[in-house]
Amino acid sequence: MGFDIAEMPWHVATFAEDRNFLIRSITAAESKIGWEKLGYEPKEDWLMPCLMRLRMLVSVFGSHDIRAIHSTFSESALSRCETHGIIMHADGCPVCNRSMPS
Ligand SMILES: [Zn+2]
Repeated sequence: MGFDIAEMPWHVATFAEDRNFLIRSITAAESKIGWEKLGYEPKEDWLMPCLMRLRMLVSVFGSHDIRAIHSTFSESALSRCETHGIIMHADGCPVCNRSMPS
């Protein structure tokens, strides 16, 4: 999966809170929290450097970097995966890759 951090639905009003949430989520992933829900064994030697880089990119991302265009993530269609209870993105559940109901 590839995306631009600037494409995420950031809001200036909640930016610091939202960025902190994302950083906590990345840190949790690095601590293998929730990995048992994945149904597969992630390649740690590949994933860990990616998570570290993502955490670094998010850390230096500022509210002035927010763009108005949202292509990958759609706020209006926020729904949760029935299996994992997490918010799905435009292409479905990030954990089980289940497609959005059409
Ligand atoms: Zn799911």
